[in-house]
Amino acid sequence: MKPIREMSPAEAAGIRCVLMDIDDTLTREGKLLASAYTSLWKLKEAGLRVIPVTGRPAGWCDLIAREWPVDGVVGENGALAFWEERAENGGGSPVLKAGYHPQAIRNDHPVLAKIRDRALGEFPQLRIAKDQFSRLYDLALDFAEEEPILPLSVARRVRDLAVEEGAQAKVSSIHVNIWMGNYDKLSMAERFLSQRFGWRCGAGDGEVVFVGDSPNDEPMFARFPLACGVANVRKYGDLLQNLPAYVSTLDCGDGFAEIAETILAKRKEAPGGGT
Ligand SMILES: [Mg+2]
Repeated sequence: MKPIREMSPAEAAGIRCVLMDIDDTLTREGKLLASAYTSLWKLKEAGLRVIPVTGRPAGWCDLIAREWPVDGVVGENGALAFWEERAENGGGSPVLKAGYHPQAIRNDHPVLAKIRDRALGEFPQLRIAKDQFSRLYDLALDFAEEEPILPLSVARRVRDLAVEEGAQAKVSSIHVNIWMGNYDKLSMAERFLSQRFGWRCGAGDGEVVFVGDSPNDEPMFARFPLACGVANVRKYGDLLQNLPAYVSTLDCGDGFAEIAETILAKRKEAPGGGT
């Protein structure tokens, strides 16, 4: 990983879309930092597409798509995308639209119930995430959002157990997310970018920056040549095989703000000012 200050003005000037994880990328200890939220506004005001890509539930994504300065949000690790649209003449109130991954399977699947029972049986201190009631497609098991904070080894074991039962599973900084369909943050982000904004896979790779912090962001780190990590990405060590190209010096939401400010400053240095 190279320091974010080494991103070239030409790379920064080519960026059209800024995608980011939420937990421990925009937040610290669960709170959305002022620095990070201000950066979302600055990116948006600079004309960039701003799109969170999160493991958080559909219920949260409704709020994010409506209230945050974003062009859409991908949620539940790629099961869905929500965004707002205005009438073609630009008038009237925006309307919330939803797209679901064609392979998304609702979370009342019996295999998910079996995995839940096995995981909670093996680790009695593990618990169902408190945001589970607003999830449509995945099961979230909390190992580090609330006390007691359990070691990453527990999260890894739960992930392996879920995969053994035939599910998909990813470890975020707070939850193990488990689902039945064949999709992830990356596959839905690519679908959303191409269908909503006409982004071209391959030719448009340098137009996308993704910022994240943890193993459930790894498909994005591997895919996008300008992917960035906030400094706390380092804590996952060998749990990550694919590291992002760039890393911030600051952690969590302050690291995101550092990355956003650097990108915006580098765009101004580029011929034409990155517009
Ligand atoms: Mg995260």
